[in-house]
Amino acid sequence: MFLTSLLELVCLSLCIIAVKVKSVLENNMVEIEGGGLRHKYSTIQFHFHSGYNLWHPGSEHLIDGERYPMEMHIVSLKKGLSVDQALADPEGIAVLGFFIDVTDKEESPEKWNNLTSYLINITEKNSTVDIKDSISIDDLLGDVNRTKFYRYKGSLTTPPCSEVVVWTVFQEPIKISAHMVELFIRTLNSVKAYRPRQNLYGRKIYASPGINQSSGHSWCYNDHCDYSPSHWNMLPGVKCGGNTQSPINIETEHVTFDKSLNNFTFTNFSNLHSMKYFINTGHTVKCVLEENMVAIEGGGLSHKYFAMQFHFHWGKIDDHSDGSEHSVDSTRYPMEMHIVSVRKGLSVAEALKDSEGLAVLGFFIQVTREKTNQKSWETVTSYLSNIKKKDSTVEMSSKISIDDLLGDVDLSKYYRYNGSLTTPDCNEAVVWTVFKQPIKVNKELVKLFPSIMGYYDVYRPRQKLHNRTVRTSTAPTGPRPHLLPLLLSLLYVGCTWMGGK
Ligand SMILES: [Zn+2]
Ligand SMILES: [Zn+2]
Repeated sequence: MFLTSLLELVCLSLCIIAVKVKSVLENNMVEIEGGGLRHKYSTIQFHFHSGYNLWHPGSEHLIDGERYPMEMHIVSLKKGLSVDQALADPEGIAVLGFFIDVTDKEESPEKWNNLTSYLINITEKNSTVDIKDSISIDDLLGDVNRTKFYRYKGSLTTPPCSEVVVWTVFQEPIKISAHMVELFIRTLNSVKAYRPRQNLYGRKIYASPGINQSSGHSWCYNDHCDYSPSHWNMLPGVKCGGNTQSPINIETEHVTFDKSLNNFTFTNFSNLHSMKYFINTGHTVKCVLEENMVAIEGGGLSHKYFAMQFHFHWGKIDDHSDGSEHSVDSTRYPMEMHIVSVRKGLSVAEALKDSEGLAVLGFFIQVTREKTNQKSWETVTSYLSNIKKKDSTVEMSSKISIDDLLGDVDLSKYYRYNGSLTTPDCNEAVVWTVFKQPIKVNKELVKLFPSIMGYYDVYRPRQKLHNRTVRTSTAPTGPRPHLLPLLLSLLYVGCTWMGGK
């Protein structure tokens, strides 16, 4: 795990020292470990570097010769050491560097608004202001992928420039509005607040596993990568080893009827313009939906959710291959479709941290020989050959709706449980709905997924239920098994009586 306790951090005061805006943290509250660091570190402060103006980027590190507008440094001392002791230890200080980039959006994340609202009070050198809002470092980092970083041995970038720093520079930038970057520049009175780049000499720069593969992920479903499913829990920063993971096997004998699992209200499921494009992620085929258009509520969910995307899990090309993730009484289906939705009002990053941040609708796909009513599935599969290359995309030009894909599945019959994403980082943030009736898709169309995409068995093995319950929306119907012999014997008595007559 990396940056584990950053969640609890509250920063106490912002001050401007020399040419940096610096924030001082409460002692021993924030700690970092893991991420290849050989020691535990306690965070003491974070600060920012910026340029003279918006056209003069001010990050200290450069990636392939490019500077970002700003850079944030989170400074930590080896646990138990004083500043003086840390400055005398070759690995005494760990600094996490985050690039800050400007987004096209006018809005910055809310906590950045909170933080920058204090800047106006500290335009004087060495002035300080206490921060009254609770802002965590996590809030500031947003959805930056913390498994992708560079590591090298270096120094403080301000005097005394002690060569005691284990540097971690994250690949993905934090994104804030141009207006916010300007606030920092103005606070620092437009002075250049970064040190020019230094020579590397013979030093090595290491990349984390997250960066090593061009996909950005070195995980896969088979054994041909660093992290096969049984090793996902060893990926830095992931939750794959948790106790409420997905998928699971649903044992129908042990599901609990819950009458609060009422009908869903689906918005824009029949809209013909909800699908934007398909992308080959290297692990699946995903259809990205228009933002804030397709919505889900009801169905026993405590919140409203907006669907972002749907994607598929499949098996091999042969006739009897099963590629669904969930199973019912240990029976798996040939494929499974997931519609992934984010809780209304939350960003994806926020949703991933909330136990009910995401709602995923899971649909089993059964094969059929019939070719009736398969137009929508023919359309979807017709796009596959355009995205054979990883990360390639294809725009949706034909108009089909989600309802078209779901066909006549009874949407009132489903299972419900709390679980996780079924791919790294396996965040335990998902309210799962697994529909009982499968979508029926022609066998030949189902085979196109593995045959055209070139990868197969893209499903995670089942995870332990632990102490979770699976609920069901429909009360058990029909005679209970133990009533059957009684009914039969009554019938038998009836028959003999009639026969005897
Ligand atoms: Zn710095
Ligand atoms: Zn999925």
